[in-house]
Parts: sequence; C-alpha cells; structure tokens
Amino acid sequence: MEKVSDIFGSMVFSDSVMKERLPKETYKQVRNTIQNGKRLDDEAARIVANAMKDWAIEKGATHFTHWFQPMTGITAEKHDSFISPMDNGQVIMEFSGKELVRGEPDASSFPSGGLRATFEARGYTAWDPTSYAFIKDGVLCIPTAFCSYGGEALDKKTPLLRSMEALNRQALRVLRLFGHTDVASVRTTVGPEQEYFLIDKSVYNKRRDLIYTGRTLFGAKPPKGQELDDHYFGSIKPRVAAFMKELDQELWKVGVLAKTEHNEVAPAQHELAPVFTTGNIAADHNQLTMETMQKVASRHGMVCLLHEKPFAGVNGSGKHNNWSLSTNTGVNLLEPGETPAENAQFLLFLCAVIQAVDDYQDMLRISVASAANDHRLGANEAPPAIVSMYVGTELEEILEALENDTDYAGHEKELLKIGVHALPRFARDTTDRNRTSPFAFTGNKFEFRMPGSSASISGINVVLNTAVAESLCQFADVLEGSTDFEADLQSLIRKTIHAHKRIIFNGNGYDDAWITEAEKRGLLNLRTTPECLPYYLAEKNVALFTKHRVYTRTEMEARYEIHLENYCKVLNIEALTMLDMARRDILPAVSGYIHELSDTALAVHQLTTAADCSFEQEQIAEMSGLLSDAFRKTKKLDAALFGAKSVSGSQALADYYRDHVFTAMAELRISVDQLETMTPSSVWPFPSYGDLLFSVK
Ligand code: ADP
Ligand code: MG
Repeated sequence: MEKVSDIFGSMVFSDSVMKERLPKETYKQVRNTIQNGKRLDDEAARIVANAMKDWAIEKGATHFTHWFQPMTGITAEKHDSFISPMDNGQVIMEFSGKELVRGEPDASSFPSGGLRATFEARGYTAWDPTSYAFIKDGVLCIPTAFCSYGGEALDKKTPLLRSMEALNRQALRVLRLFGHTDVASVRTTVGPEQEYFLIDKSVYNKRRDLIYTGRTLFGAKPPKGQELDDHYFGSIKPRVAAFMKELDQELWKVGVLAKTEHNEVAPAQHELAPVFTTGNIAADHNQLTMETMQKVASRHGMVCLLHEKPFAGVNGSGKHNNWSLSTNTGVNLLEPGETPAENAQFLLFLCAVIQAVDDYQDMLRISVASAANDHRLGANEAPPAIVSMYVGTELEEILEALENDTDYAGHEKELLKIGVHALPRFARDTTDRNRTSPFAFTGNKFEFRMPGSSASISGINVVLNTAVAESLCQFADVLEGSTDFEADLQSLIRKTIHAHKRIIFNGNGYDDAWITEAEKRGLLNLRTTPECLPYYLAEKNVALFTKHRVYTRTEMEARYEIHLENYCKVLNIEALTMLDMARRDILPAVSGYIHELSDTALAVHQLTTAADCSFEQEQIAEMSGLLSDAFRKTKKLDAALFGAKSVSGSQALADYYRDHVFTAMAELRISVDQLETMTPSSVWPFPSYGDLLFSVK
C-alpha cells in the first residue's frame, strides 16, 4: 500500500509543486499573488498555465475546468479538453494563461435572483490563486470565483473572499493597537464537521422521495430507532469502514485534511471532521468532501444522504462550523494567552464575536435557513432556532466580574488591568461542553452548530466574518484615538459585555423555558425560512455588508430572491413527489389489500357462516376509513398546490407554501404512515424505515 505521505496532496498543484516546477521569478510572483493579492501579469500567468498543464497531463488529466460555486449551493464545472488542432491534422495539448485566469461559462442557467435582468446575461469565472488547483476524475480543476460582467457576484466564493478581506483589514487595525506591527495578515480558520447517512443503493432506488427530494416524505417509525444510543461512536461496520478508508484516500489525494471518521447518533449516520484550514479553502474542501462522499458511496453500493432531515423521528444531519482567527505569524487570536496583555487582547476579540453574534443574530439565522434545515432547527434536536452563545460558566463569571468590576474567584479586583493578572486556562475538556448551544466557545475557537449538512459553508462564514469585522472596526475607531489605552480598553470591554450579554446562555437550549427566557431578553426566535428571510434586507444588514464591501444592495436583493425561490421550489417538488407516490402506489396498494381482505372474508363466510371474520372486518373498516382520509388529503394538497399559482410576490409565495402546502403535506403523511403500520410489508410499495436505516450490514 502506498504511504499516506505519498498520497496526500498528490493531485494538488500545491506550493511545493509550484516551487519545483516554476522558474524562481514566476514562483515568487505567484506567492505574492497568494499572500498579498497582487495581480499576476500575463506572462507569469502563461508560464503557470503551462506548468500546470504539463503537471496535469503527467497525472493523466486530459481536460481542465474552472470549478466554481454558483448560488445553487453545489459546485459547477464545464470541461474543456487541452487539445488544440494543428495544420497537419494532429493535435497538441494547450492551456493558455488566459484560459487559466478567466473563463466564460454561460451564466444564464444559474440562479441570479434577477441580476441578469438588470445586468449582463453573461458571467465570467476568475481564478482564485489562494486555493490550489487539483485533479479530479482526470480533470484539472481551477478554483474560481463567478461574477457578472457588471462585477456582481453570482457565486458563493466571491463574497467569502471579500468578507475575509474585510476581517483582515479590521483585525490588523486592532492588532496594531496592541503593538503587533509584525503581523501582515489575519485570516479565518475553519474546520467544518460533516454529518451524513449511508444506506444501501438497492433500497434507495425503490424510494422516489429519496431520489427526487433527498429525504423520505413518508415512513412509519421503525420498532427500533436511536433510543438505545448504541450507534454513537459504536464500532464501524465493515462496509462502512471500507467506504471511510477509500473516502480518506480520495480526499487526501486532493489535499483535503480528512481526519476523524465516526458513527453518529442515528442508525446509519456518520461524521467526518477535517483538520481546519483557511476559510475559503475549507469551503472549497467541504464541497469536494460532499461530492467525494457521494461518489465513493456509490462505488460501495451505497448512497450517501446529505439532506438535513432524511428521516423523521431520528436525528438529522448538521455541519458544525468551527471558526477562529489566525495571524500569519501563527497566533490563534481566540486562544486565551499566557500573559495578562495577551489576555486583554483575547478578551477584546472575544467581545468582538459576542457583539457580532448579538447584533447580527438575524443574519446568522438566515445564513443557515433552508426548507431542509427547518426540520432540524427548533425541532427538539440540533440547536433551537434562537441564536445564542455558550461561553462556559468559567468564562461567563470572568465576563461578569469584568462588567461589574468585582472580584473573580480569588482574584483581586480590576482583573483586566494589563500587567496584573493572568486568566485561568479554560477547560477544553469535552465533558464540559454544552451540545445544545447553537454557537459555542470551545476553548480556542467558536463552533457554530446551526448549519445544515448539505449547505455550503460560504454563506455562514460571510456573515460571521463581516459581523466580526464590524465589531473590530467599531473597537478600532474608539481605541485608535485613545490617550489612555488601558483605561479605554477596559471601559470598552465593560460596555460591550453590558450591552451584549443577553446573547450568552449556558443552559439547555432544548428546554422550553429557554424560549420564554430568550423572548424576555429580546432575542429573535425565527422558526422558519420564510419568517427569517425578510431580515435580509433590514437596513442595518444592508448597511453592514455595503460598508465592508462584501455585498452591494443589489446583490443582497438578488440573494434574498434566490433564497425565497429555492424554498418554494423545494416544497413544490416535495409536494408533487408525495402526490405521485400516494396516488400511483400507496393508495392503490392499500385498496388492493382491502380487496384481498374482503375476498378472504367472503370466501370464509361461504364455507361456514359461523366463521369469525373479525380481523378482516375490522381491518377493512379501519383501513378503508384511513384510505379515504388519505385520499381526501391528497386532494387537499393538490388544491393547495393549485392555489399557489394565484399568489403573487416571492415572499407571499414562500409564506403560502409554508402555511398551506407544507401543512397539507404533514397531514397527508399522518394518514399514510398509519396505513403503513397496518399493511403487510409484502404489499407496501416502498421499503420501510427499518429497511432503510438498517440496510447497511
Ligand atoms: P471536537 O471534535 O471535540 O469538537 P476538535 O478540537 O477535534 O474538537 O475540533 C473539531 C473541529 O474543529 C476540527 O475540524 C478541527 O480541525 C477544528 N478546529 C480546531 N481548532 C480550530 C481553529 N483554531 N480554527 C478553526 N477550526 C478549528
Ligand atoms: Mg465539535
């Protein structure tokens, strides 16, 4: 077997490959582009493209693609081969600097939220040299951003890069105040933990709901679910272990730092965690991870479900976004320090995050909103729909002491006074973790637990980065003019804690009492996607993103529109799939079974009138009742869908889908699931929950 060190990054045009293959001068120029965003000149681009092509061909690649992330949330690629015809009828393999730097895919079929109507129909892709090119399935993939000719971002990467720049600018201002003139840049570090389900392909192929919508739309509870907690961290089944092994290998080849693989709470549920890396690379890698999971699962006769809620009644899947800030000198800015001065700085960055989460709860909620994630958030698993922060009791006591200028656990007053006290080391013990918090400080990073498993992590990091940039900007504005830095810093921290402590909650986020308490504190509880989306265009949010040049107002309007459209489309497809399954398979199957029961009862009765046909009679009575219920509910759902046609305005339509279509779907499901429990499995047209959840042996 090949050594891991040989496999890792073997398909990546990485720094070491560039160093080896590029002329020294070109290599230096590329480094300058990566580190300082300097534009690469045409000649250098030509040299890089040529070296990339030669390397890719040696690795067996024949095509290249600009790999980008349109607002569909998945990645897009259009393959072009390297071949170029010559006069003699032969071909040579070519790849120009222009082809590397810029591409022009047809933008017209990607969601643009109206941007295309107002601007150019075409879009272009632009190389993101900070994320290395790689080879996937014989194709050289060049990570790119995707914009319209008017310069509007049509993708998820452009705003992410902009938000990282914004955060870099403001964090540097703050670091200068602490005397760190040596720091040249600050970047975000992100490690997304990815949950998923694995089921056998044979059962998947029999479920149209899974095929069309990624989740089950019907399905009675199986006799055994997750109640025994026997799956979590349990021993990994051989088929799954083989899958994980190959997945790791495939991911390592393209430079993804796949690290931890384990079983999750629900049967058939698993998790992969990578080692954290720079924010935009983490986003690219997470997309690659999701794609590779599906591909590798298929090779093992399984299907990887990335949907947030594939099965009702068992845990759904999330994606924990671990996030921190790191300097180019290797300092984690959310790591409590060893010295009091370091701690003052740590506390200021901590306060920046606290203020950001409180001020932009709505945007954080929006960043995780989707029809699929609505099944998780606030539904008694995963975190609630209310955004709050967990900092641990120890840190909370410190913040309280700072706010009130009181003693803290044996420490003298004025604990912040630079040069006086050290903060205690915060326990990073997992037993101390609060798993119900949507946004938890976990020792030296924050873990945002609301994101759904299938979503791109770009959107959440855009919000997080920009909101924290704004806090830091406000802090720098105050402190840059200060004549007594120490005193002003102290009062700034105190004021910030006082103004934003309502967002801190260390208790049980699943508790009903928290909902009441959160309301008292004035925190938002936005339960559904249509409910939170209007906040997108709140003036304070538009002001935030335009100020930091992350989104223009037009881009925000477009994204709001796409979000709404997507919500309606998803529900529409789900409703149509339900109707299709119910009308064409489930109702006829049940009707046929009732017929069979009647035949039996009649035949037995003919033999002897003394026969007891109570089973058949009672089943017939109950089942025909449920059957006509289900039938009526299909008509109701149909009518609800029809009604959608006369609703105008995207927000009104999304509200309508939630209030009418979604509720009609839930009602239909109740009758059908009840029928499933009474129908012989040989007659029921779809694999049961038990068949699905325990399909991988
Ligand atoms: P646990 O698994 O107990 O939640 P870990 O420390 O293993 O805690 O972290 C989980 C995820 O957080 C991993 O993906 C890890 O790489 C990531 N992570 C750790 N430190 C940082 C950091 N400074 N910035 C961003 N992500 C981080
Ligand atoms: Mg974790």
